[in-house]
Amino acid sequence: MAPIQHIAILGAGLSGIGAAQLAQQVGYTAFVSDKSPIKPHFQQALEDLGVEFESGQHDFDRILSSDLIIKSPGIPEKSELMQMIRKSGIPVIGELEFAFRHAGDCQIVGITGSNGKTTTTELVYHILKYAGLSVRMAGNVGHSFAGLVSEDLATGNLGASRIFVLEISSFQLDDIVDFHPQIALLLNITPDHLDRYEYQMSNYVASKFRIAMNLAPGDLFISNEDDSEIGHWLKAHPGAIGCAMEMVGKKDLKTAYVRIGDEMAYDLSGSKMKGPHNMFNAACSIRAALRLGVTPELIAEAIYCFTPPAHRMERIIEWEGVAYINDSKATNVDAVFYALQAMDRPTIWIVGGQDKGNDYGPLMLLVEKQVRAIVCMGLDNSKIKAAFAALGKPMVETRSAEEAVQEARRLAHAGDIVLLSPACASFDLFNNYEHRGEMFRQAVLALQSPTNPD
Ligand code: ADP
Repeated sequence: MAPIQHIAILGAGLSGIGAAQLAQQVGYTAFVSDKSPIKPHFQQALEDLGVEFESGQHDFDRILSSDLIIKSPGIPEKSELMQMIRKSGIPVIGELEFAFRHAGDCQIVGITGSNGKTTTTELVYHILKYAGLSVRMAGNVGHSFAGLVSEDLATGNLGASRIFVLEISSFQLDDIVDFHPQIALLLNITPDHLDRYEYQMSNYVASKFRIAMNLAPGDLFISNEDDSEIGHWLKAHPGAIGCAMEMVGKKDLKTAYVRIGDEMAYDLSGSKMKGPHNMFNAACSIRAALRLGVTPELIAEAIYCFTPPAHRMERIIEWEGVAYINDSKATNVDAVFYALQAMDRPTIWIVGGQDKGNDYGPLMLLVEKQVRAIVCMGLDNSKIKAAFAALGKPMVETRSAEEAVQEARRLAHAGDIVLLSPACASFDLFNNYEHRGEMFRQAVLALQSPTNPD
C-alpha cells in the first residue's frame, strides 16, 4: 500500500478541527471540506494551523485524490459524496480511529449507550482526576480525542500512564477499524437515531456493539444486565466479547446503595446522583475506576463531590409550590421513561420537537399514571397528539419555551412538578438541546419577576 500523504477531512466541527490539528502535527497534508459554512472560530483555527479548507462546498476531485478520508460522524453514508468515495475505494475512517492510530500505548475508557454517556463520562473522568491519575476527557464534552492526542504529542505527555475517557456515539463507532479501549462501557440500548439505521433496531444494536469488537484478553467490558437488547445480542453472539465482562443490574442497586461483589459498598444518598438511572451510571463508573486501581475510599469521596452535567433532570426552582425540572437532554423516549418514573408528584409534561421516529408506546402507562397535563412544544405536534389523545389528559400546543412555561404554570396545581423532558431533538425551534434548556430556564426564572403577569 502506498504511504499516506494527503488526507481529506470531511466536516469542520470539533472533531474535524482536531483531526486537522493531529494530521498537521504528524506530517500529513490535510484538506478540510465542509458542505455547510464553517463557523468563523473554526475557520480561524484552520488558518492558524495552516490547513487548507473549503467552506459551503465539496471539491469532489480534490477529495477523491486523497490517500485517506476522515469523515465527520454527521455525514450519512447515503450522501452523494460518500457514495462516490465508497466507489473509489479510498479508505475512510473517523476521527476516533485516526486519533487512536497516533495515541501510542495510553489507556482508553470508551463509553457508549443510548443514554447516560455524558453523565458517565464526566463521572469517570472526575473520579480518576480526583484520585490524581493522568486523565483527559473527550467526546461530546468540548474536546476531540484527536485534538487531545495532538496536544499530548506536542507536550510529550502521551504514554502508558495517560488515560483518555471517551464518550462515543454509535455514528463514531461506525467509522472505527482497530480502535480499542481497554475498558469499554455499553450502558444501554434503546431506540434512537433509527433514521440513520434504516429504521432497523438490529443495525443500531450492531453499531453499539462495535465498541467491543476489538476487545482482547486483559480488557474489561462493563454493561447492563437488565437491558433486553444487550441480553439478546450477547446470547446470539456467544464468545464475541474477547475479555472479562462485568454486568451491572438492578440487583446491584438498592435505594441509594451500589453493590460491588457481595457488599453494598457505596452509599450515594448524600451525592447529587439522583434516580435509578444515575445509580446505574455510578455503578458502571465505580467498576471502571476500581479497574484502574482507584481505592473505594477515594471513589466514594469523588462521587460525593460530583456535580452532574446541566440539562439532565436539573431542578431549577420551586415557585408557587411547583417544582420546575429541566431535562432538555432527554432527546429520546427511553430518557423520558426514566424521567417520568422518577417523578413523585403529579407532573405537567413539556414534550416535543423534531421527531426521530419515536414510538411513544412505552410511555403510555407512566403518562396515564403520572401526568396531569401535556404541553406540546414543537412546530409539528401531530404525532404526540395522536399518541396520547386517548388518555384524555388536558393537552395544549406551544411554539416557544416561554409560551410552554406559561401554559405549564397555568395547568399546574401547588404540589406539582413541571418537567421539560422532550423525547425529541430540538432543531425545529432551538439551536440545540442546551439552547432549549437555557430558554426554558430563563422562562422559568422569569416567573419570579415582579413584572410577570399573574
Ligand atoms: P447521553 O450523553 O447518552 O445523551 P446524558 O448523560 O447526556 O446521556 O443523559 C441524557 C438523558 O438521559 C437525560 O435526560 C438523562 O436524565 C437520561 N439518562 C442518563 N443516564 C441514563 C441511563 N443510564 N438510562 C436512561 N436514561 C438516562
